[in-house]
Amino acid sequence: MDKYIMALDQGTTSSRTIIYDKKGNVISVAQKEFTQIFPHEGWVEHDPMEIWATQMGTAQEAILEAGLNYENIAAIGITNQRETTVVWDRETGEPIYNAIVWQCRRTADYAIKLKPHEEMIRAKTGLLADPYFSGTKLAWILDNVEGARERAEKGELLFGTIECWLIWKMTGGKVHVSDYSNACRTMLFDINKLRWDEELCELMNVPMCMLPTPVECSAHYGETIKDLFGGPIPITGSAGDQQAALFGETCFNKGDVKSTYGTGNFMLLNTGEEPVPSKNGLLTTIAWGLNGKVYYALEGSVFVCGAAIQWLRDEMGFFKDAKDSEDIALSVDNTAGVYVVPAFAGLGAPYWDPEARGSIFGITRGTRIEHIVRATLESLAYQNEDLFKAMEADIEDKINTLKVDGGAALNNMLMQFQADISDVKVVRYSSIESTSLGAAYLAGLAVGYYESLEDIIANREISKTYEPTISDGERQDKLAGWRRAVKATIALHE
Ligand code: ADP
Repeated sequence: MDKYIMALDQGTTSSRTIIYDKKGNVISVAQKEFTQIFPHEGWVEHDPMEIWATQMGTAQEAILEAGLNYENIAAIGITNQRETTVVWDRETGEPIYNAIVWQCRRTADYAIKLKPHEEMIRAKTGLLADPYFSGTKLAWILDNVEGARERAEKGELLFGTIECWLIWKMTGGKVHVSDYSNACRTMLFDINKLRWDEELCELMNVPMCMLPTPVECSAHYGETIKDLFGGPIPITGSAGDQQAALFGETCFNKGDVKSTYGTGNFMLLNTGEEPVPSKNGLLTTIAWGLNGKVYYALEGSVFVCGAAIQWLRDEMGFFKDAKDSEDIALSVDNTAGVYVVPAFAGLGAPYWDPEARGSIFGITRGTRIEHIVRATLESLAYQNEDLFKAMEADIEDKINTLKVDGGAALNNMLMQFQADISDVKVVRYSSIESTSLGAAYLAGLAVGYYESLEDIIANREISKTYEPTISDGERQDKLAGWRRAVKATIALHE
């Protein structure tokens, strides 16, 4: 009987399921969007039951569409939006509040109160005291939902990020686990000792009895209850979306780095079996736990990447399809001195300036739409270059290759400019679906569907590589202009 791996990709705006064969070919895909709930300015919530229903709906649909049944699925791997926080009743399975989404800023004031402890938080978790991370969201639920803390202390409530919630539901409430790559985003987890930290839990007043058991990213967690797919399927892989993409890009070795050009942009560098603390505004995170070993990563994020192309398309009305941006940009030789800083939602790493707003510099009477489009595309590469330099500084070494994925990685002009500006070889694989592939690979390794990492590497086909073509002088001139533009953007609100 033919066997396949099913990847559940639970994202911020949609739930998707992809069934892969052994070669990593897509056999079927199903996707469903779900409701974004905005109760107040800056607040973002999801309904955990809708996440569950859409995720299972797409899984059943994908199996049906491929003409398979549960026995054809060798294993399930999960990848998920990270940091999003769910608290539910251990007996009834009912969430006591909506899921508080990673984007939600309601705990901004709470995070400021944690600032005096930031050094300890950084040393233990690799993170900053920021509302982004789950611990602050969990504390909010315990503080604001009536009776929640009391019930949590009595052991009646459970906490989980999305992978944990899905595994618990799929196993009929039997298994309460969180893989290391998700647990490490809570601000409650010690990434050196690989366990929940008492001091952090005390600081955020979180009863430890509600926390899941931390587990590796590739292991037998449990099996789906019979009702879901007609029979049990083992659940054997789990990783947060960015770490799954790092795995899917086969960045298995120390020094391997990937960048995902989606709505935002995330760059992760595999730093091997040692966590590397950042002096340059990056986060230290767990990449994955596999076969008794834990790999760490440095992570940098940029809030606006493909979203800037959407802005050119939807608000500026410069073109109808994101991919048209490439031809328009290439219709001029350069940006004619224009720089765009797309800080629509502040500046992320390595600047961490939430007050900054987008700016355009260097406009003359001759500036045309084409120059602005080109400058916007270049800005995506400049932002990446800032992360890239921060990583090189943290590891005190030069990085030679950058692997890329995400929608905007299909833009050849952008990829060539990235190679030029970062003086690095850029590699794009034929499948840019690295996130779900990563989850499938992790699940497949645990059941022997893949025997080793070599099996997975053999699967990957390079679609295109880009080598740097500009001189160092030209590179430095362009970068100096970008740095002036960023400096001026920050100065605008000081
Ligand atoms: P996400 O997973 O964050 O939704 P995707 O990886 O699907 O994002 O990438 C979609 C983003 O990439 C969109 O913001 C879109 O504007 C941008 N994009 C897609 N194709 C191109 C292209 N050819 N050139 C530039 N940007 C693109």
